[in-house]
Amino acid sequence: MTVLVPTMGALHKGHQALIKRARTLDKDVIVSIFINPLQFENKEDLEKYPRTPQRDIEIATIAGANEVWFPEYEDLYPEGFKTLSAGPLGNKFEGASRPGHFDGVVTVVDRLFAIAKPDKAVFGEKDFQQLTIIKAMKSKVEIVAVPTVREFDGLAMSSRNVRLSERGRDIALVIHRALAAAKLAPTVEIAQEILNSTLSTEPGFEKDYATIIDEKDFSPANDGTENRRAIIAGWVEGVRLIDNMQMVGR
Ligand code: AMP
Repeated sequence: MTVLVPTMGALHKGHQALIKRARTLDKDVIVSIFINPLQFENKEDLEKYPRTPQRDIEIATIAGANEVWFPEYEDLYPEGFKTLSAGPLGNKFEGASRPGHFDGVVTVVDRLFAIAKPDKAVFGEKDFQQLTIIKAMKSKVEIVAVPTVREFDGLAMSSRNVRLSERGRDIALVIHRALAAAKLAPTVEIAQEILNSTLSTEPGFEKDYATIIDEKDFSPANDGTENRRAIIAGWVEGVRLIDNMQMVGR
């Protein structure tokens, strides 16, 4: 049996947790590292995406990978390849702000699965909308989810965090503060107020969205929604950051 952990490299402890989880599923663990141009609607973001291949090989191996796979663009996208559609959820939130992003994600995942032929694949809850869309692809590959790994102060680990200054990193902490403060709110309305008021304390955070959704389909949550989750996206020092947290208040 083979377990695939798809990544874009610049590996950190979040990726390591995925690889370790993969290793509990089987000993044949492949980590793919491919910065997928199809999912970058912003050229500057693609150009500035950190690249640390040597270090990635070490981190992946230490975490338990027995193969680190660097596919070439041509391997994944032979001439005449077709872009897949992520469906309606692909146009909401991250998809609304990043047109075509999720089409690029489902296309690369489909190609990675077709070539590596894994039995299972591991993805992070950090990218919760991505995870939901990939689960909905209904491929034969079993999708295993891993909770978000955070820094000691709550900041969600992300390859993009290295682009933040020390001050920017402090600003970015407001995202986790807002999520953690809203988590136990008794109603969706109160949770929403807490998100808004907490985020507004930090002028350096440029909000894109901060809202409570039904995990099923990302429709607006109400107090009857069984599984609701707060999702936040925005920019700090021009770097796009996203995070999310399950809401447990009743
Ligand atoms: P990326 O390299 O950013 O495309 O991420 C590759 C995989 O790692 C995706 O499934 C992400 O959701 C997951 N991931 C990224 N950051 C984290 C994190 N902090 N905790 C858990 N999983 C993560």
